[in-house]
Amino acid sequence: MDEYGNSGEGRATRRDEAVRAAVEQGLLGPDSPIVGLLDVTGIRESAAELRAAFAEVTAPGTPVLHAFAVKATPLVPVLRLLREEGIGAEVASPGELALARAAGLSPDRTVLDSPAKTPAELREALALGIAVNADNPQELDRIDGLVRSAVSRSPLGIRVNPQVGGGSIGATSTATATSKFGVALRDEGAREWVVRAYLDRPWLSRLHAHTGSQGIPLSLMAQGVAETYALAEEINRRIGRPQIDTIDIGGGLPVNFASDATAPTYAEYARALREAVPGLFDGRYGLVTEFGRSLLAKHGTIVARVEYAKSAGGRAVAVTHAGVQVAARTVYVPGSWPLRITAYDGKGRPKSGPEVVQDVAGPACFAGDLLAEGRALPLLDQGDYAAALDTGAYYFAHHYAYNSLARPGIYGFVPDRATGVRFATVRDPQTLASIVAESGGAHAGALTTLHTPGSR
Ligand SMILES: *Cc1c(COP(=O)(O)O)cnc(C)c1O
Repeated sequence: MDEYGNSGEGRATRRDEAVRAAVEQGLLGPDSPIVGLLDVTGIRESAAELRAAFAEVTAPGTPVLHAFAVKATPLVPVLRLLREEGIGAEVASPGELALARAAGLSPDRTVLDSPAKTPAELREALALGIAVNADNPQELDRIDGLVRSAVSRSPLGIRVNPQVGGGSIGATSTATATSKFGVALRDEGAREWVVRAYLDRPWLSRLHAHTGSQGIPLSLMAQGVAETYALAEEINRRIGRPQIDTIDIGGGLPVNFASDATAPTYAEYARALREAVPGLFDGRYGLVTEFGRSLLAKHGTIVARVEYAKSAGGRAVAVTHAGVQVAARTVYVPGSWPLRITAYDGKGRPKSGPEVVQDVAGPACFAGDLLAEGRALPLLDQGDYAAALDTGAYYFAHHYAYNSLARPGIYGFVPDRATGVRFATVRDPQTLASIVAESGGAHAGALTTLHTPGSR
């Protein structure tokens, strides 16, 4: 545990109090059987830890932009909160850029990184002055055209894939030999192509790599950053001046889903990087980081009411309102994405009692819709609540519209002296009218009135 209390005890206490208050204040109940909760105190703490970790290892005066990977938690109030904490935005689609702008993020605190940018997206980004990392030679061609036709303040760079290898989860390993991202640096002729690209374009001033996300060991992440730094040094040496002035090291710090402790910490990662790549921190390079999961995951909780408690083949099964619609990764790939579950009683108090091996099931109509299978927990009864922990990134903000299940409401909370816990709405629960509208409700007759000419 360090100065920020990373054992997570404070976090667990705040969470328990928020669950109870959500029941007492009517956010959770028979008619609103699922919510997402965000621990505002915890989010602020993580943002402060991130800033402090890199401030500790960088030379005084080094420009550092921490750009939150919006895909991790694409919610405008979260982006605004992070903005207040000095964190920018990494966006990867027109939608994410729109969210960042709605949150008030300025272009100079925004980075665009997606692998499939259209000409219109690139034009808009350059017109706004947003930093852009070109993913591949064809995209760089498009940027060439835009740079020729208009002046832009956008810092521009190239994304490379150092091909240092993958981690334990294939879907989040971005630095494998055949990854779809960036310029594959170890492929024949690729390194020379990258060096040439900078030699030919004095306006290319950044270099970017994102070596992976959950499942990548710190040593492999550090190796990816080290190879990116070595390439920047080589390019600047060949050009004879420090043309690359900023290195974007991506995000990807893994999250501990096994307990409340924050592990590894930003401080540990920053120190590991300084050890592996000291030259990166001596003040010659500005830094951009793009952390997502590690900023938000541990500050979100899905709480769902147990609608029915049943038994099948000797197995206790709690049928809850949280399943694949809010935890798609866990439900479809449970081996890679297990979630901790805690049990609360009908009043939102932590449940005690002997542990019973049970399934915590979701509401969707397929057999695999389980938040947890064969989990030992105090026996969940009808009217109790099950909470899925560490779901603040890539979970309830990533609704999956299976069975037309409504997006749950999301509420931020802080401890409050008068009421115990004070809540603010981050996202309203989805209405049935909105589900119908999003499902073609305005076009109900579209297909019955579409006839092959001459058939009638
Ligand atoms: C997803 C992504 C991130 C964030 O990854 P986390 O594992 O959530 O930290 C950062 N940069 C890029 C380019 C990404 O695709």
